[in-house]
Amino acid sequence: MSGGFLKTALRKLATKIMARSGKSLSDRAMKSMVPMFVEATTPDDHKCGNCFMRCRENSAESCIIVKGGVSFTLGTCTFWAKGPASHWSKIHEDRMNYAVSGYVEVPEGVKVNCGACRFFDNGHCTLWNGKVQEGQCCMAYSSPQEYVPEQGSPGAK
Ligand code: SF4
Ligand code: SF4
Repeated sequence: MSGGFLKTALRKLATKIMARSGKSLSDRAMKSMVPMFVEATTPDDHKCGNCFMRCRENSAESCIIVKGGVSFTLGTCTFWAKGPASHWSKIHEDRMNYAVSGYVEVPEGVKVNCGACRFFDNGHCTLWNGKVQEGQCCMAYSSPQEYVPEQGSPGAK
């Protein structure tokens, strides 16, 4: 997730946490300190297709908090949360654009999880300086292959 200002803020926070702890964070510390740290899920892929904020508008893949459409198979954002698409009738009036939500897409076959994140190094997160498992994820996920589609053109690349 490139995500502009939000990602910059997260990286500053990570630097502060690392400086304060001075040592590698345990599994427990990662879960309690890292924003929106999520456990490995089944499937271990944190994309719009298994986020509870996904919905359909005129049959198109969409989201109740991000405007312009999303891709269930390629997209994700910093607000991902696992669950069934049960909130389709609660579309927010003022939805975020791609830049504010940190919406990005990855090429087909690339996962959204710690194992596919640029900060993953053999079970260690180099951003938060802590222990992680491949299937876990957090708000600061960033893939070397991610891109932001043109607003309103999800899945077009
Ligand atoms: S854009 Fe974000 S909040 Fe919306 S469905 Fe995708 S991951 Fe969930
Ligand atoms: S490896 Fe990436 S997704 Fe996983 S905790 Fe670190 S920054 Fe977050």
